[in-house]
Amino acid sequence: MMETMNKKISAQEAIDLEDKYGAHNYHPIPVVLERGEGVYVWDVDGKKYYDFLAAYSAVNQGHCHPKLVSVLIEQAKKLALTSRAFYNDSLGEYAKFITSYFGFDRVLPMNTGAEGVETAIKLARKWAYEKKGVAENEAIIIVCRNNFHGRTISIVSASNDPDARKNFGPFTPGIVAVEYNNVEALAALVKNKNVAAFLVEPVQGEAGVVVPDEGYLKKCAELCKENKVLFIADEIQSGLGRTGKLLACDHEGVKPDILILGKALSGGMYPVSAVLANDEVMLCIKPGQHGSTYGGNPIACKVAIAGLTVLKEEKLAENSDRLGKILLKEFKSIQAGNPELIKTVRGKGLFCAMVINERNGKNASDLCMELMKNGLLAKPTHGDIIRFAPPLIITEDQLMDCVDIIRKTIKSF
Ligand SMILES: *Cc1c(COP(=O)(O)O)cnc(C)c1O
Repeated sequence: MMETMNKKISAQEAIDLEDKYGAHNYHPIPVVLERGEGVYVWDVDGKKYYDFLAAYSAVNQGHCHPKLVSVLIEQAKKLALTSRAFYNDSLGEYAKFITSYFGFDRVLPMNTGAEGVETAIKLARKWAYEKKGVAENEAIIIVCRNNFHGRTISIVSASNDPDARKNFGPFTPGIVAVEYNNVEALAALVKNKNVAAFLVEPVQGEAGVVVPDEGYLKKCAELCKENKVLFIADEIQSGLGRTGKLLACDHEGVKPDILILGKALSGGMYPVSAVLANDEVMLCIKPGQHGSTYGGNPIACKVAIAGLTVLKEEKLAENSDRLGKILLKEFKSIQAGNPELIKTVRGKGLFCAMVINERNGKNASDLCMELMKNGLLAKPTHGDIIRFAPPLIITEDQLMDCVDIIRKTIKSF
């Protein structure tokens, strides 16, 4: 019976259907995937690829991790959703688990990353009025230029990407942008008594894996503390092992006042996001003032506990740190052999990028097409940057196989 439901569809049919009936809000690479396991995905014709996007780092634990699949199925058979009108037997256990895992007093559960960011902004504003003494409607959130925090109206109000903003106004007021990786510029802004929070990606993902100077996060956190400003870390992409530590903030021993997680929190199984903070901040929100029907549902809770457990059990941050160093070293040697094509290579852990010079009318997007033909999937960001971020369960042998593919593809490009 399942066979008749899953009638085999060709790649072209799948692409045509999306094109005809779906909104045109993405521009995918023309590969139609059907199956995934670990670092691999297979297309509808059975061709196997290394996945070097890992769903924007949602699949750090690898595709269809058996522990996550089984937890998801078991809980789905038992109880999927109660809403927060009632207690369920999973949320309390999850809240205790995740708060002790990251060392915060409390968690507020949401579903998507953007909702997590919205939650953090709402918390910061409420805290500013109720604890810092900012006059109502005067609170300011400082964000960084070239940030990516999601797609809601308030979040695109914080963006300077023309595609994210054009014809989506009017925008949310109370947001001020500062240059990323510039401590002095932040120092000037946080002196304003109306500033509630500084919202930052510890490594800017969508901007093209932009790693700030060593000490930047620490100095920003100190400035925030001195000026009674909340330090909010958006670790939705940089967190959960991606940069070689549990959190990217851990590289500098920085503890944010508000921590936002998403993506790999569920290992790609289910939309799960979380906002963590201590009592002084989190208890500013009272019953009825914020929430989500699906937030904290039993499936999400169980899957997130399993996702975080796999991260520790399989030492994925450690693997990311070790293999990330190898990958960056290999990238530097590939760059040395192709200095005209590759402008820059950078990264932290298995979160790497190459900046590509356009050559003979061919660009980063064309290079990704060639990589695809050679069995490796990656996606350009901002036209000229390719991000390389495989699932963190990748082995050294697999990684070296991938380096080979990348080297050969670049050589023949
Ligand atoms: C992906 C991402 C988001 C948004 O997450 P969604 O689940 O797509 O809403 C927010 N912040 C960062 C840093 C991200 O990478």
